[in-house]
Amino acid sequence: MAEGSVLMHEEKQHENVPVYEFVNVNSSEFHIGTFRDLWLEVLNPEVYSHCTTAPEVEDVEFIEEMGIEPKTLEELKNICGADSLKSGHEDPDSLPSDPHLSTLKLRKRRQDYKETLTRDTLDRHEVYANELEMLSVGKKPESPGDLVPEGEMVLSFNIMYPVLFQRFKRVRAFQTVHVLGSQRLTELRDAICCVSDLQVFGEFSSTPDMVPQFISKDHYKSAFFFFNGTFFNDTRFPECRDISETTREWARSRGFPHFQTATMEDTSFYDLKMKVGFPYYYTHQGDCEHVVILTDVRLVHQDDCLDMKLYPLITHKHRVVTRKCSVCHLYISRWITSSDALAPTDPCLYCDQCFRMFHYDDEGNKLGDFLAYAYVDPGTFN
Ligand SMILES: [Zn+2]
Ligand SMILES: [Zn+2]
Repeated sequence: MAEGSVLMHEEKQHENVPVYEFVNVNSSEFHIGTFRDLWLEVLNPEVYSHCTTAPEVEDVEFIEEMGIEPKTLEELKNICGADSLKSGHEDPDSLPSDPHLSTLKLRKRRQDYKETLTRDTLDRHEVYANELEMLSVGKKPESPGDLVPEGEMVLSFNIMYPVLFQRFKRVRAFQTVHVLGSQRLTELRDAICCVSDLQVFGEFSSTPDMVPQFISKDHYKSAFFFFNGTFFNDTRFPECRDISETTREWARSRGFPHFQTATMEDTSFYDLKMKVGFPYYYTHQGDCEHVVILTDVRLVHQDDCLDMKLYPLITHKHRVVTRKCSVCHLYISRWITSSDALAPTDPCLYCDQCFRMFHYDDEGNKLGDFLAYAYVDPGTFN
């Protein structure tokens, strides 16, 4: 309150100085498991049940609740039903092929124009998005054991781009993920796809055929989430290290409060205290940092995807423009070169074919001096 009155006071004094309108953009901290228990205490189990009530049963319940006669219910259905909204005339979209009335001529012209706007081709982003939706919307599991339990919670997370603080124009979620409250933090970690997990380290200009198949994710498995003063480390594999140590050490030497650590795989979302709308951190590959924001916490609804195996459920992936080869401008780049006398730019991107045609003779001997690295396009996740 004190803070509010100070603000009010300030506003009065300098009315032409901008004051932030949305000061409280995040909720206060709450325990997710307890929040769920509170809901379950007050709600009638029917509300979050996965079973649909048969229409006849619904009618009987309605009659009892409102204290009306069955005859009145029938009358209500007739008067308030969706059918009563229809005009009873013909379909307004069907027009005679050769209309004489001016209004109909206009309408026909409009309709013909509209038809030219419909595209029957889908690009691969749309195909992917449609497929993602088809897989999950209203999906029921094949085996009853995989059914999401009634009263389970769904948490929505927005995962932001790693470049958040470098280029402000790109502050947007590259992925939206739904997780179940009972799932472990590691399950969210595994659902986050970041291009830095796919990098292949090394310079391969002399041995372009020897690019190893293993990627950063196989080598550097350490990662942590930073939620409310606690670093949750991934310690599932023997090669995992506590990469939060540097930060904690830095904080300790500067007199900041002590930060806790915990293990990611032993913590479920129900164990967490979180704030909705608050920026948290996910760090992997040493210093690839993502802001993670919890945007919604709610009970599972019967129309949600009820197949436990599909969670964490990715509901949105931001489209990234793919970087095409700088020679053919056709294929997605697979190589990046630097100190390359043959290249128009430094660094320069190439597809596999152009890279080899440009830099090696028929026997595969390297032509000229350059450094070559494997390139993973961020658009590969589209
Ligand atoms: Zn990353
Ligand atoms: Zn090319």
